[in-house]
Amino acid sequence: MKTFAPRALQEVRFESTVVEALPADPRTENVPRQVPEAAYTFVTPTPVATPRLLAWSDDLAERLGLVRPSSVGAAVDILAGNTLAPGMRPYAARYGGHQFGNWAGQLGDGRAITLGELIAVDGSRQELQLKGAGPTPYSRFADGRAVLRSSLREFLCSEAMHHLGVPTTRALSLVATGEPVVRDMFYDGHPQPEPGAIVCRVAPTFIRFGNFEIHSAADEHAVLRRLVEHVIRAHYPQFDAADPAAPAAWFAEICRRTAVMIAHWMRVGFVHGVMNTDNMSILGLTLDYGPYGWLEGYDPQWTPNTTDASGRRYCYGNQPQIGLWNLARLAGALLPIIEDHDALHQGLELYRSVYHSTWQGLLAAKLGLDRIEGEDDTALVDDLFSLMAAVETDMPILFRGLGDDLDEDESGLIERVVRPALYEGADLSQDLMARWQAWFARWRRRGEASGLAKGERQRRMNANNPCYVPRNYLAQRAIDAATEGNLEPLEELLTVLRNPYERQSGRESYAARRPEWARHRAGCSALSCSS
Ligand code: AMP
Ligand code: MG
Repeated sequence: MKTFAPRALQEVRFESTVVEALPADPRTENVPRQVPEAAYTFVTPTPVATPRLLAWSDDLAERLGLVRPSSVGAAVDILAGNTLAPGMRPYAARYGGHQFGNWAGQLGDGRAITLGELIAVDGSRQELQLKGAGPTPYSRFADGRAVLRSSLREFLCSEAMHHLGVPTTRALSLVATGEPVVRDMFYDGHPQPEPGAIVCRVAPTFIRFGNFEIHSAADEHAVLRRLVEHVIRAHYPQFDAADPAAPAAWFAEICRRTAVMIAHWMRVGFVHGVMNTDNMSILGLTLDYGPYGWLEGYDPQWTPNTTDASGRRYCYGNQPQIGLWNLARLAGALLPIIEDHDALHQGLELYRSVYHSTWQGLLAAKLGLDRIEGEDDTALVDDLFSLMAAVETDMPILFRGLGDDLDEDESGLIERVVRPALYEGADLSQDLMARWQAWFARWRRRGEASGLAKGERQRRMNANNPCYVPRNYLAQRAIDAATEGNLEPLEELLTVLRNPYERQSGRESYAARRPEWARHRAGCSALSCSS
């Protein structure tokens, strides 16, 4: 491993393997248009009035070998798109996608601009991308900007997911632009100016399923092949890009990673909200934090996205199925270059089996068991979810309680685990109480039969059932304060979420149920796509 002293962002020398490996759009004028045959278009971020750093990830910066900048200055100017660091050749990527089940044609980075790649402390290559840095040829009818509320939510959730152990893209910085952005938040014909902000996102690459789909749909098979080879070379070195069998094996690996990612979403109760194929990372990382949400009351039909409320395509319980559907679209896009169609089917089958085994493993850990196997175990799990669905019961609180209060008897578990998880109006009838007691007794017997020591069971449970998740209303509180110029609630929330599996004294309220006032408030439960 290379060791070097942390450096200021403006001193980093950037590179771009994408620019080296893939064809650029020969045109550079920054007007909305269809772009043929190219993987990206060179475009410079549009400068903003008065950039100021609002949040920073020390943990990520340490990995990147960067020093924390002060709130204004050279580094923040780069993070706002006002200047470039050496070697940066910014571009917007061209991609397409299936949105809500339909082919949407060319989409592309409408408000994201990649600055370049740097070599991190561990030798890995990491791409820095600004979201909200101004229009690109892919902006279509929109402005290329992002509002503070959505940018803060992206920053916060990127941090939370990383510390929860869910594969995710990361966020390095949140910068206020000092410029208003006009949005019609409720789509009710009342646009309002809101503060603008820019997130600097970081991942080895932001290439999505949609990048492959656009070349395939446009019959650009040579570019498609170059893209596949580039991604294998740069990001899947375990495969030999020159081997004709590599693309099929690579596709299977994408299926595997996507399955693991979605199983973790299910474990922590994350609902992405817009699982369009243009939002699916080719690395199996959670990508594009928009109208996402966290399952509070357990309801598999729940979706945080108001645009999805009628169809519920992207609700919590559908996510595993949608992952498969999206991979099938990627498989379809790869048909022109992967002749072995059986291999593609096997990849999709692998998704099913990896999802199943990963989810069963995570469930076993969540319940402090050695494994979930056979009809009795399946019934134990199904019955738990039925009990949680019977009346509105908070999923994170319920699961966390199981590990924290493992020593309680059945009535103790009801008082200490079930009751604190019940929302207002969720009545624990005699019948429901009896069903919970019976379930706890079965779970206890099964736990004793697992052969695991009590301490080990508790350790597994508490390492998989977070105390703290970024409940939407907590994010909204931080947004409201930040909008007023007070960053303390955001900083405290970030501190809590950076250590989500450990009870933090004095921070009990962060682990509690969403208060009733937040149930129907904008941003506190459901969200629109307006961002
Ligand atoms: P999303 O649903 O946020 O993943 O966005 C879908 C597409 O719309 C992507 O191509 C985005 O780049 C584009 N888009 C979303 N918001 C904006 C915006 N404010 N300006 C330009 N393009 C946008
Ligand atoms: Mg997107």
